[in-house]
Amino acid sequence: MSIFKTIRNEANMIAVAEHYGISVNRSGFINCIFHNDKHPSMKLYKDHYHCFSCGAHGDIISFTSQLLGLSSYEAAQRLATDFGVEISTTQKAKIRKSLSVYEAKTLLREYISILEEMRDKYCPASPKEEWHPIFCDSVRQLLIYQYYYELLSFGSYEEQKQFVKQERRFFNELQAKLRYTRMAV
Ligand SMILES: [Zn+2]
Repeated sequence: MSIFKTIRNEANMIAVAEHYGISVNRSGFINCIFHNDKHPSMKLYKDHYHCFSCGAHGDIISFTSQLLGLSSYEAAQRLATDFGVEISTTQKAKIRKSLSVYEAKTLLREYISILEEMRDKYCPASPKEEWHPIFCDSVRQLLIYQYYYELLSFGSYEEQKQFVKQERRFFNELQAKLRYTRMAV
């Protein structure tokens, strides 16, 4: 069974929401986490949620991923850690292999925007000023990651999928890098 399936079967939406500090009212409603909600319009069920105002709908993994700003895989891992769901190594490996095109693009976009932020922050104020190493490094890295993003946006969906599969190591490293960067920022 996949980690996603295991978590969907075992975790309870309401317990999860409360665990992450969301107050759930007696009818199981909360303020929607997908839109700016003044009155609770998102209903939590045992295994899914639905917002009656903006129509957001999904399961425990997309809920956690939105709430904590994580990818689906990270959200699943986080739930597994916080709720003691066992994940075997083979399950982990399986998930690592199947990074989707969407996830790969999201990773790249996120990392590119961090790099752009760094580049602008450390950009020399005048031509005379010495270049900050972070500025140089972010410019150099931007070239690489923007190039990958272009490659990934090129071609049919099948080709994009193939590209993610082929560059699995690159994307796994990027994932690790992002996790580290997020902690440092
Ligand atoms: Zn909503």
